[in-house]
Amino acid sequence: ASLFSAIEMAPRDPILGITEAFNADTNPAKINLGVGVYYDDNGKVPLLACVQKAEAILIEQAAPRTYLPIEGLAAYDKAVQELVFGADSAVIQERRAITVQAIGGTGALKIGADFLQRFAPGAQVYISDPSWENHRALFESAGFVVNNYAYYDAATHGVNFAGMLADLKAMPRGSVVLLHACCHNPTGADLSSAQWDEVIAAVSAGGLVPFLDMAYQGFGAGIAEDGAVVRRFAAAGGPLLISNSFSKSFSLYGERVGALSVVAASAEEAGRLLSQLKRVVRTNYSNPPVHGGKVVATVLTTPELRQLWEEELAGMRVRIKEMRDAFVKKLKEKAPEHDFAFVRDQVGMFSYSGLSKAQVEQLRAQSIYAVDTGRICVAALNSRNIDIVIDAIAKVL
Ligand code: PMP
Repeated sequence: ASLFSAIEMAPRDPILGITEAFNADTNPAKINLGVGVYYDDNGKVPLLACVQKAEAILIEQAAPRTYLPIEGLAAYDKAVQELVFGADSAVIQERRAITVQAIGGTGALKIGADFLQRFAPGAQVYISDPSWENHRALFESAGFVVNNYAYYDAATHGVNFAGMLADLKAMPRGSVVLLHACCHNPTGADLSSAQWDEVIAAVSAGGLVPFLDMAYQGFGAGIAEDGAVVRRFAAAGGPLLISNSFSKSFSLYGERVGALSVVAASAEEAGRLLSQLKRVVRTNYSNPPVHGGKVVATVLTTPELRQLWEEELAGMRVRIKEMRDAFVKKLKEKAPEHDFAFVRDQVGMFSYSGLSKAQVEQLRAQSIYAVDTGRICVAALNSRNIDIVIDAIAKVL
């Protein structure tokens, strides 16, 4: 037997499996609600005008493709930090925040997890039940034991807040708690502002290390509104990590643009943390790619482009809300005995629709693809496919 001959097949990724089944379906009317991508009303992944204009500027500059610094493009790191914390925030003024460019939100989580593993190897990690399906695997592969905290309540289609708070209060001091800053994936159920207050108080009192994952800033209530959670954690003091991603908010999925930010107790501590984060990056992929970071930095720092981005992002946010409204209204007409009003209260690209695995399978027989958990991507609905989807759902209820 050779080294490789005994290696077993790894389990299939459940979401990519849906896409494979969708691609193999020959029905021209097929609809994929299993994705984690924003589509416009024409069912296309948009190329934002702000991105096109930034790329035109960059082509004009015809800059050579040298290596970036290990921590990424300085203009990018600064712009991202100001976006995440607010330019006037104390952690920036006091030089306590460090931000390194990362390979998407996933890469930010990975370098954060590797960094924590070096300095807190025995810490327990807690993720929401359920969470983005890669969270557990990422932290486990970095060497952590990963636990769940109570989060989703199927009965109310909202957050089991009492359960969540009880779990937070029971975590050992020094535990890392991964929180979705906004637009919870996969459920669409977010905490209220008052509930965040209680979470922040429990995290501080319990000596926990919060790791905020912000993959959808701007898809909830707005750019600043969604970022407010980060600011409140930063103001509460204590160590803090934030991963953020521009995959969705800039529709730059394949460019892999994200960042990891860490808040230190002092500027001096921040310097030490940055030096260690650079080691993590250096031993993973040496330094990040140039293009996506330059595009985002150009948009964020050029006032007209920034304005355009904010408008385009608002357009995506509003369209998703319209689809939620239409979904609820149309289902009320077709299936008045069922109450889907909760879909309107959910936030971001996803909805735990409450559909069972059996119902999802029945939908699949009609060439409509959703995740077995009942998660649908509201951003994959549009004015042309929504009636088809509603009719199909009404039939399986
Ligand atoms: N965190 C969450 C909650 C996500 O939903 C995603 C992407 N779907 C990521 C992180 C990863 O983002 P990226 O695609 O930029 O790696």
